[in-house]
Amino acid sequence: MKDENNLMEKIVSLCKRRGFIFPGSEIYGGLAGTWDYGPTGSLLKKNLKDLWWRETVQLRDDIVGVDAAIMMNPRAWEASGPTEAFVDPLIECKVCHQRFRADNEEEIKSHEKSHKGKKVEWTEPKRFNILVEAKLGVIEDQKSTIFLRGEITNGVQVNFKNVLDSTRVKIPFGIAQIGKAFRNEITPGNFTFRSREFEQMEVQYYIKPDEAEGQKWFEYWKKDRMDWYLSLGMKKGNLRFRDHTNDERAHYARLATDIEYNAPWGWNEFMGIHHRGDWDLRRHQEYSGTDMSYHDPQTGETFIPWDIETSAGVDRSLLFLLVDAYSEEDDRIVLKLDKRLAPYKIAVFPLLANKPELVEAARKIYDDLSPRFMVAWDDRGNIGKRYYAQDEIGTPYCVTFDFDSLEDKKVTVRDRDTMKQDRVAIGELASYLEKNLGK
Ligand code: ATP
Repeated sequence: MKDENNLMEKIVSLCKRRGFIFPGSEIYGGLAGTWDYGPTGSLLKKNLKDLWWRETVQLRDDIVGVDAAIMMNPRAWEASGPTEAFVDPLIECKVCHQRFRADNEEEIKSHEKSHKGKKVEWTEPKRFNILVEAKLGVIEDQKSTIFLRGEITNGVQVNFKNVLDSTRVKIPFGIAQIGKAFRNEITPGNFTFRSREFEQMEVQYYIKPDEAEGQKWFEYWKKDRMDWYLSLGMKKGNLRFRDHTNDERAHYARLATDIEYNAPWGWNEFMGIHHRGDWDLRRHQEYSGTDMSYHDPQTGETFIPWDIETSAGVDRSLLFLLVDAYSEEDDRIVLKLDKRLAPYKIAVFPLLANKPELVEAARKIYDDLSPRFMVAWDDRGNIGKRYYAQDEIGTPYCVTFDFDSLEDKKVTVRDRDTMKQDRVAIGELASYLEKNLGK
């Protein structure tokens, strides 16, 4: 293994130092498994979600979006079977009473090692509900227990009929959603990789209940999603598919594949593609009494559609995009993020902060660009330090107003990746940046 742990330490430290990700509730000693996105991290996350939404919903006429509630009628969870799906068998170490997922061989082995030669005895696997409980209601003794959603899928499935009745969709079509999910993970860890509160972005894609169609759309979505991550500049060698084995596949899943990333600690999943058949709609039909069938106006057939789900973690995608973009070159660290994802597109500097004529002119450039781009302003320290800071957060272009600018009405534009500097006329700056930020 290369210096992998060290790489993770560097990423965690960069995230803290540059405002990407902070430990949740840090000043109170934290809350395990929660993370807060800071000024740069929240921009990166928003850019990732916006880009996903644009390419998944806006640029396609076969997918619509929803934004469903996190809290749901508990019957919805009974129907979709989280008491099966979200109950993981756990084993407990009899030496120190820590609990681990029985299926996580790697963690179990490394825990055994941590007891340094002592014989570790494990309990029999016990089942444990991974859904987070909450109490809802204003009157103390009439409170009812609900669950915070453990996955966002259900909010789409329960609205299947509403979407059919309120839009012009016809099969095959998808419903997309981005939102928070919560799981009582036993061992949160690897930074944001396994958190107790996280975000997912999903499409449930409804198709005709037909074996050949199922296979076709499953393959289609595998390729489409992999291509999307590659289009964000992720290195091909760091991504792979991993088909679920028969015993790990959820009982309703006909086909299931993960897309994995070559993480510093080993290959790990950050999205799943699952052929769920008619499991969800049929169960909700049974539990709610609402007819979930689709009537095909062309063929006259009525059926409950099958569902090909693609479910990606926002936080895991973001983490792996950061890891993938991180590079060390000579005397700088640079995040080579896709320009569309970069938190700030441009940084504007006056060469010297104590020269009002430079500051004022640079400020005007900042004000002109801000309505069109996310622009950072920096007049602290020397120019080298400012470049260093912007490289660390992945800002594609730095614009400096210097003494020559007063004469020739041009500014220096410095490229993050090549470090090449161009002199660009101020009047043409916005179009120059627009063209180069492109895509
Ligand atoms: P794992 O086996 O790692 O627990 P999973 O197979 O249970 O993941 P899914 O239920 O398929 O995950 O959820 C889809 C996606 O949601 C995952 O690929 C991942 O990106 C994200 N996700 C799931 N659990 C977490 C978590 N605890 N923290 C962050 N992201 C998560």
